[in-house]
Amino acid sequence: MSNIRKLAGQFKELEKKLAVCTRCGMCQAVCPLFAETKREADLARGKLALLDGLAQEMFKNPDGVSERLNRCLLCGSCQAGCSSGVNVIEIFLKARSILAEFKGLPGSQKLLFRSVLAKPKLFNTLSGFVAKFQPLFIRQMNQSLGTSCARMATPLLGNRHFVPLSTEPFHQKTPMLDTQPGKSGIRVGFFVGCLLDKVFPRAAEATIQVLRHHGVGIWMPENQGCCGIPALSSGDRTSFEQLVQYSINQFDAGHMDYLITSCATCTFTIKKIWPMMIQSDSREVTEKVNTLSAKTMDISQFLVKILGVSALSSKNKPSRKKITYHDPCHLKKSLGISVEPRMLIHADPDSSLVEMEDADRCCGMGGSFNLHHYDLSASIGYEKASRILDTGCEVAATSCPACMAQLSDALSRCKSTIQVKHVVEIYADSIME
Ligand code: SF4
Ligand code: SF4
Repeated sequence: MSNIRKLAGQFKELEKKLAVCTRCGMCQAVCPLFAETKREADLARGKLALLDGLAQEMFKNPDGVSERLNRCLLCGSCQAGCSSGVNVIEIFLKARSILAEFKGLPGSQKLLFRSVLAKPKLFNTLSGFVAKFQPLFIRQMNQSLGTSCARMATPLLGNRHFVPLSTEPFHQKTPMLDTQPGKSGIRVGFFVGCLLDKVFPRAAEATIQVLRHHGVGIWMPENQGCCGIPALSSGDRTSFEQLVQYSINQFDAGHMDYLITSCATCTFTIKKIWPMMIQSDSREVTEKVNTLSAKTMDISQFLVKILGVSALSSKNKPSRKKITYHDPCHLKKSLGISVEPRMLIHADPDSSLVEMEDADRCCGMGGSFNLHHYDLSASIGYEKASRILDTGCEVAATSCPACMAQLSDALSRCKSTIQVKHVVEIYADSIME
């Protein structure tokens, strides 16, 4: 009975937010999924119309509603361009959690989120085990990009060109840090994030190098957890709340001026999604979430805005490396950060920035969207790869490990030798030379 009452309350809250949409259709021009499929149902407007009748539809055809709602990259392009200010991402995430509560999570997801992802120590052990044995099941595809593919097609990997799990994840090399501020007088917490830790540890190492170089003290607790977005995107609010609580406790233990991440999705999740979705009855928890979210910054924003890293006034080297930059949706469209990552490229004497067309067009990753709708995701990724190739660059830089994985896949399929890097790696290389 209390569950039904809770769901009814959630419906009511959603209805108010849905009423803001005027059905103007302006989101059509910016939706990367609609550009591929031309289906009204894939558009924010189509999904919002579906949700208008959610209570009835959910009883009639819960799987159909879920399927339509999950056909979305959660890229936020529609929300960024919506003149009526519809909180599309909030509506979609809340609707997904209502649906998951109503029909239950699939067993495999429940096991993955509640028994693995929500238990960071176990997650580290299991991913280490997979990393050790993965050479038996994969073969290298592209050396410059570090991609591999499955030796035999499996439903999970399909024919993806993926960057494998690192055999030396960041947490293994640097389990924890607790250092005092140096010349900057600033101490930060470093929230690593799962993909940086397990797939792109070199970007996490570059973050530490850069912070140390600038005399920044670091609090990096052991066995860090996930930001929770994979669970929440699938409607699992329970695992999401557990992970938020876990991270609050971890970072609460060390004094810090800012919380830094080098993952656009983690930054967006901690800054915007944690305060929006946390449902705790405890005022103390809500206050801690708000405090942590207010302190959270993307690494490039921290380096430029707080430490004053700026573009070099003259770059004399004749043969500079051509670098293009892809704007992650969660950084540019959701947080308005696009100048600062470019500044890190401008601060490198060996690099020159060449802009690609539509640098802020979504790369098509979308987390679980890539898992469930790989053909669509790959097709959107191919468009991005074409624009990168058109620049004639040697490096494609970005600020999100999920985008790095998608760009690597798309470029590897094009047999390109362009490297994919995080902007913090480029900046770290320039100051370490
Ligand atoms: S979400 Fe915004 S842009 Fe899209 S139809 Fe509704 S009001 Fe228009
Ligand atoms: S979040 Fe992105 S993919 Fe989803 S409806 Fe909006 S623009 Fe389209």
